[in-house]
Amino acid sequence: MNMITNHMSTAELQKLDAAHHMHPFTDANGLAAKGARIIKSAKGVYLTDSEGHKIIDGMAGLWCVNIGYGRPELGNVAKRQMDELCYYNTFFQTTHVPAIALAAELAKIAPAGMNHTFFAGSGSEANDTNIRLVRRYWQVKGMPEKRVIIARKNGYHGSTMGGGSLGGMSPIHAHGGKIDGIHHIDQPDWWSEGGDMTPEDFGLERARQLETAINEIGVDKVAAFIGEPIQGAGGVIVPPATYWPEIQRICDKYGILLIADEVITGFGRTGNMFGSTTFGIRPHIMTIAKGLSSGYQPIGGSIIHDEVFNVVAEGGELYHGYTYSGHPVAAAVALENLRIIQEEGIVEHVRDVAHPYLAEKWHALADHPMVGETKLVGLMGSIALTPNKATRAKFAAEAGTVGFKVRERCFANNVIMRHVGDRMIIAPPLVITPAEIDVLIERAKKSLDEAYKIVKDEGLF
Ligand code: PMP
Repeated sequence: MNMITNHMSTAELQKLDAAHHMHPFTDANGLAAKGARIIKSAKGVYLTDSEGHKIIDGMAGLWCVNIGYGRPELGNVAKRQMDELCYYNTFFQTTHVPAIALAAELAKIAPAGMNHTFFAGSGSEANDTNIRLVRRYWQVKGMPEKRVIIARKNGYHGSTMGGGSLGGMSPIHAHGGKIDGIHHIDQPDWWSEGGDMTPEDFGLERARQLETAINEIGVDKVAAFIGEPIQGAGGVIVPPATYWPEIQRICDKYGILLIADEVITGFGRTGNMFGSTTFGIRPHIMTIAKGLSSGYQPIGGSIIHDEVFNVVAEGGELYHGYTYSGHPVAAAVALENLRIIQEEGIVEHVRDVAHPYLAEKWHALADHPMVGETKLVGLMGSIALTPNKATRAKFAAEAGTVGFKVRERCFANNVIMRHVGDRMIIAPPLVITPAEIDVLIERAKKSLDEAYKIVKDEGLF
């Protein structure tokens, strides 16, 4: 079977894909007409497609391949674990060594007091766990009315019904609705929504919406606040420096739980092991996935502070769990990934080598006529496309039109850079070297130049 598909031409594979494979976040008919790009193999920061193109991956897959592609150690560990114990569950008072070892390792690298992990198969599942955990916490404390979770518009927390409801993306809500008890406040996106305010004042204004919401809903009804330290899928929106300290102050003042969704920012992405450290956030729960295993196996989880764990534990059995919670192969692979991150100093590489090198080149893109704001924290960056930097204007076309054109040129130039509306975003593997950063920037710049010409020809600039 595998032999047959491996020998098929790109066109044959695309036809078969369109006939039988329904893709996530995809217009199925649009893709069927065009044909999906088929990735065959990958090594380091490069992907190879079925046409033999060597593509530099500026997105680490979906922000997850932190240690880069093709590390044989992870495959070796997976094989060993599959042979020894391919599966057993962690329900019914049983456990196994990989789950124990990974949970213990996470307690070691997490901020102080975060000593337990509840495992899930993905970030979405972990956020569903968090909804149940924070509501259960207040139930056990005798305040079952405290069940509203405050989140942000344009935040992303997954696409299960729970995760999609926590997220503030209206197109997702439009497809199937959202669960009750989730309230959204505005996002700290100064470039798009800051008007005449300074970034600092705007950061405070947006954070204080949390306080207003708590007072309007009633503190006796609010369970928690959830946010990504840096909004990822929303466009790599780096909040003004005033934002997180004010959010933290408000959570402390009202005694509501704080969930940091670290699915993207965890495991070195921001130049520290966790984004919470970078922004001085003191979370009760951190959502993790992606970089936990560098995407080599599907695994996520919630790292839980003692304050929450102890209360929930006092309440007796928690009616919650997944068949694959703490899956032994995924856990063993994640542990090996964490070993590599720590022993090879990958977080330090981001902080001391890759970030400073990329920052100089990334911020220089602001000289491009079509580029406004440039942001980069660790190895997570964005640029805002605009027809007028001074006024932060939007293009006279539907949002995302120009971003899509740049992305198409990136595609043609063998560089993966994503667009979110009219922002271009990157999050390369954390092991990227200065020489590879040169390739990434050269291709990104070429793509911007080509798109700029098209945009000008079409009268959009
Ligand atoms: N939270 C954040 C911040 C994410 O970026 C994502 C995925 N992009 C998720 C949750 C959902 O993770 P998954 O796709 O593994 O369910």
